[in-house]
Amino acid sequence: MMNTAIDFRSDTVTRPSSGMRQAMAGAPVGDDVYGDDPTVNDLEEKAAQLLGQEAGLFVTSGTQGNLLAILTHCQRGEEYIAGTKAHAYLEEGGGGAVLASVQPHPVENQTDGTLDLASVRAAIKPDDFHLAITRLFCLENTFFGTPLPMEYLAEAKSLATEHGLRFHLDGARVFNAAVRSGITPSTIGGMFDSVSACLSKGLGAPIGSVLTGSTEFIQRARRWRKMLGGGTRQVGILAAAGLYALEHNIERLAQDHEHAMLLADGLADIEELEVQEAAHRTNMVFVSMSEAKLGDLSDFMRDRGILVTVEENPVRLVTHLDINQTGIKTTVDAFKDYFRKAA
Ligand SMILES: *Cc1c(COP(=O)(O)O)cnc(C)c1O
Repeated sequence: MMNTAIDFRSDTVTRPSSGMRQAMAGAPVGDDVYGDDPTVNDLEEKAAQLLGQEAGLFVTSGTQGNLLAILTHCQRGEEYIAGTKAHAYLEEGGGGAVLASVQPHPVENQTDGTLDLASVRAAIKPDDFHLAITRLFCLENTFFGTPLPMEYLAEAKSLATEHGLRFHLDGARVFNAAVRSGITPSTIGGMFDSVSACLSKGLGAPIGSVLTGSTEFIQRARRWRKMLGGGTRQVGILAAAGLYALEHNIERLAQDHEHAMLLADGLADIEELEVQEAAHRTNMVFVSMSEAKLGDLSDFMRDRGILVTVEENPVRLVTHLDINQTGIKTTVDAFKDYFRKAA
């Protein structure tokens, strides 16, 4: 049942396809601590090239990528600016503070995921020994499924340059942003000093992220990764999945976006549901309903082979490569039945 469920909990639930598994099984490998794994090297090079950076580093997760960026850009006693709802501030266990001794300075996210640049400017600390040194400015793209506008990125980059801040992108879903905006990922990635991107979400790999940046930055990040216990051996067997994902699964993200649009349109017909509008939707749909209706939703859907996380209102539904158009239709029908039943 779980294996065939239509699973909207996240795009992390995808399973490696048979093509991906074949690529993994046949991957040439070596000891990556010696720099000998050709598949890891290919992945790192390919990711850097796609994201408009000089070099790349294969890391276990997006969390490790963001943590390495903080460790590498900042010194102890310095500070990074990130959104109040940013993953790199809110959902990574406080790793920047705990492991890097770098304190976050959260600035409120606007609904489109941007941080008001006047507020960012005001958060940058003057040179005063009472204060931490502001070193790094982090953005997230997509933010809750919405791509950040390119004009905004350009303005944010000028602000970072003007104040001598390093500029990091948590690009867990940066490929969704690029595909949705009809631009190359390097157009977005090239604006930043470093970019972390997930291979294990919509791209369908079972594990891994890539951190990319200048050659010198990645050399230092590699040292930190080793210190964190992240030096690995014949890991090309996993990198092969990531490489396969970058080679086969980027353009197809458009299908997930299309499915999210279909889902949003279908659910919009249900009176009791409010579908959050999105000018540039990627692979997420947020729907809210009365608290009374929220209670049984998860069980009802589960009985129909549909998995949703009902922890918050709005509920987040995420499309990905293991959900097809039939699944979307089944889900819209199930929602209709649910509200009919509960009426
Ligand atoms: C998932 C995610 C991460 C972290 O990725 P993990 O691989 O789960 O550690 C970072 N940032 C954003 C925006 C994410 O969605």
